[in-house]
Amino acid sequence: MTKTTPMMEQYQKIKDQYPDAFLFYRLGDFYEMFNEDAVKGSQLLELTLTTRSHSAKNPIPMCGVPHKAVQSYIDILVDQGYKVAICEQMEDPKLAKGMVKREVIQLVTPGTQTDTGAAGAKRNNYLTALTMIDATHYGLAYTDLSTGELKAAELNTVDTVINELMSLQTKEVVIDTTVSQTVQDRCKQLGLMISSQNDIQSSSELSYVEQDLTSDLLKQVIGVLVTYVTVTQKRSLAHLQRAVAYQPAAFLKMDHSSQSNLEITQNLRTKKKSGTLLWLLDETKTAMGGRLLKQWLDRPLIDRGQIEDRQEKVGVLLDHYFERSNLQAELVKVYDLERLAGRVAFGSVNGRDLIQLQTSLEQVPQIAHTIGDLGEKVFEPMLNGLDPVEDVAEAIRDAITPEPPLSVTDGGVIRDGYSDQLDEYRDAMRNGKQWLAEMEAHEREVTGINNLKIGYNHVFGYYIEVTKVNLDKLPADRYERKQTLANAERFSTPELKEKEHLILEAEEKSTALEYKLFVDLREQVKKAITRLQKLAATIASLDVLQSFAVVSEDYHFVKPTLIAGHDLEITQGRHPVVEKVLGRQSYVPNDVSMDDQTNVLLITGPNMSGKSTYMRQLALTVIMAQMGCFVPAEAAQMPVFDQIFTRIGAADDLISGQSTFMVEMQEANRALSHATANSLILFDEIGRGTATYDGMALAQAIIEFVHDKVHAKTLFSTHYHELTALEDSLKQLRNVHVGAVERDGDLVFLHQMQPGPADKSYGIHVAKLAGMPTPLLQRAEVILTDLEEEAAEKPVVAVPSEQTSETEKTSTPTESATTSPSVDTPTEVSAEATPTSDEPVAPA
Ligand code: ADP
Repeated sequence: MTKTTPMMEQYQKIKDQYPDAFLFYRLGDFYEMFNEDAVKGSQLLELTLTTRSHSAKNPIPMCGVPHKAVQSYIDILVDQGYKVAICEQMEDPKLAKGMVKREVIQLVTPGTQTDTGAAGAKRNNYLTALTMIDATHYGLAYTDLSTGELKAAELNTVDTVINELMSLQTKEVVIDTTVSQTVQDRCKQLGLMISSQNDIQSSSELSYVEQDLTSDLLKQVIGVLVTYVTVTQKRSLAHLQRAVAYQPAAFLKMDHSSQSNLEITQNLRTKKKSGTLLWLLDETKTAMGGRLLKQWLDRPLIDRGQIEDRQEKVGVLLDHYFERSNLQAELVKVYDLERLAGRVAFGSVNGRDLIQLQTSLEQVPQIAHTIGDLGEKVFEPMLNGLDPVEDVAEAIRDAITPEPPLSVTDGGVIRDGYSDQLDEYRDAMRNGKQWLAEMEAHEREVTGINNLKIGYNHVFGYYIEVTKVNLDKLPADRYERKQTLANAERFSTPELKEKEHLILEAEEKSTALEYKLFVDLREQVKKAITRLQKLAATIASLDVLQSFAVVSEDYHFVKPTLIAGHDLEITQGRHPVVEKVLGRQSYVPNDVSMDDQTNVLLITGPNMSGKSTYMRQLALTVIMAQMGCFVPAEAAQMPVFDQIFTRIGAADDLISGQSTFMVEMQEANRALSHATANSLILFDEIGRGTATYDGMALAQAIIEFVHDKVHAKTLFSTHYHELTALEDSLKQLRNVHVGAVERDGDLVFLHQMQPGPADKSYGIHVAKLAGMPTPLLQRAEVILTDLEEEAAEKPVVAVPSEQTSETEKTSTPTESATTSPSVDTPTEVSAEATPTSDEPVAPA
């Protein structure tokens, strides 16, 4: 057995407190990892794995990172879903008696990471907490530590919880013991890190943020969140904003799969921003505006007054090109006030950050002036929010040099003239240096050694250096040898020693005083954090609104009229992202016309003709309208929707490990259970995931259900041509189709919506376009003719929906039907529409 050293004993004690984190143990200029941390860490960070105590039987694996570059290593680990505990030396090793005292000063986790760099500037990083009373009462709270945003909500179903977590794109969920294993497992399936926080502190931080909340459930969940933050961060949280309770129902509801399928903020294939609605709309000039835009996209409004308020502002900015350009030029100079305020609170702010803060604040009077010039009442509340926080800007301007260094402890941060005492020290330093120069000249003269020089190093301090060939010219008496080099000797003299003392003392005192002055200033700025946050919020909103004005002009959007009834009239609407990608000339605009007597549009047309684009186009238009943006159309009038449901086939169905058809039924069921007459439903080819007849039967039953019971505005695309006959029996259903023409036997898509059903389904034409062999296509034509003849003998729409019994009529699908849909699920589920054995089978 090898004996452990005192250092390894200390290490182990600390490591035991953080078993699930990498422990970065400060040792001089390095952070070291040992044992398993070292083995795993060296792989993940591509570091050389060495060992400590080579001679021992069981050498200890070790690797390290230089302390100056530690942030990038921490980021790599945390980005990959690990936690890092930073363990510092708490005293100067030179002065320590025995083992240097060490402590963990911060636990960095995916949800508490604040140094996300430029890449994360336009993204929030949310840490979430979850508590639970029972299966229908959940508390959810989230915060972005870098900005101090703090919100909480009471939720009633596990699905809404999951939905919020997905929408927030949170990476880490803090739970207490109340959260059931089932709920934890669902979080884990989403790839979320689960952290426990069971000993809730009643610290002063808690009472600070709790103030406005009345619900015990919300207090509890905020307690869990804030305690976790306090315990892991071990630093000031002065910038945490007062908790705001929100209700998901106050916003346009969309489940996560809809957001994802509509590619609102994330491209389905690349998982990036490019090709999304966010990408199209983002002309923001500040990081704060970028983040707010994303928040508005995730939560469009449902309050007509609020929407119209935003619309009106966008309209004003759109009409005032000159003021808008000024505003943009001013916004560009505004740095990330929210995150700067966060760094002030954390105490991690440096001189350059303060200069950024000052520069930003200096823009505010200009911005206010520009907004004032608009002369519009609707901007008055914002004008009040544009507080230039003059006292802070002035204090920074007085104190900080215009180009301060990164470090706040090495001096050079505070201006001359700011503090008399500091000026005195600086004079001493400057005079000392002047004196040294004079002394050097003098010594050269008296010794006749022309290359004699006075220099400085950390170990020996100031010295006079004389090369070996010149040594004999030195007078023996005054010169005292300090250090011998290969070609030279270094000396000191009594005069040099005296000046050295004065200079070094002045330097030391000056840097110490500078640091103190800096900290005082930081504390002063800290008192203004709430005002800075308010200002940041106003600037962020202005930025998003000007971004809406820019895109509305660039892409020819119009202001939609929101109405109280159920009329939906979009004239010459476009899918803004597809249009941008294809080019304006190539995109064929389409109307969406559904008066209050039309609730279902049944869309037929060949594959690839544009059905799905048409449906997405409507959803995006609604989302844009309810965010307060203008919309891609020539004219638009629409009701305010409460929820959007989509069932549009997507690649991410595969990850959940469920069959496509099962997911399809679950999503359809969710829409049928929760949609109201004020909702929008988009069903893209429902039923195609199973055998033809039960797929078609389900599709018809679903359409009837929506038509008779839900009354939501619904677009339903299908390739079951037979369903178009429903127009005769369902009064509020209308057929539309996407036009296509055959030219010389080839199919040409017009992408044009037309009234009435499509005349054929053109599947074989599409196969031809895909390049299938001619004999195969000919064979398919023969089979098709056979099938059509057979089908003509037994129409699908045999049972009119009016015959549904009264009891069935009143029963609505329930949440439990998610796993067993109220409509019969076929026992054999096939992923694609391949005929099963009881179907007409094409001869092989
Ligand atoms: P479907 O759902 O009918 O199979 P999609 O909506 O996926 O067809 O459209 C297929 C392709 O057709 C799209 O990727 C797009 O390039 C093009 N397209 C769709 N609608 C339009 C349109 N209105 N104008 C121009 N091109 C369009």
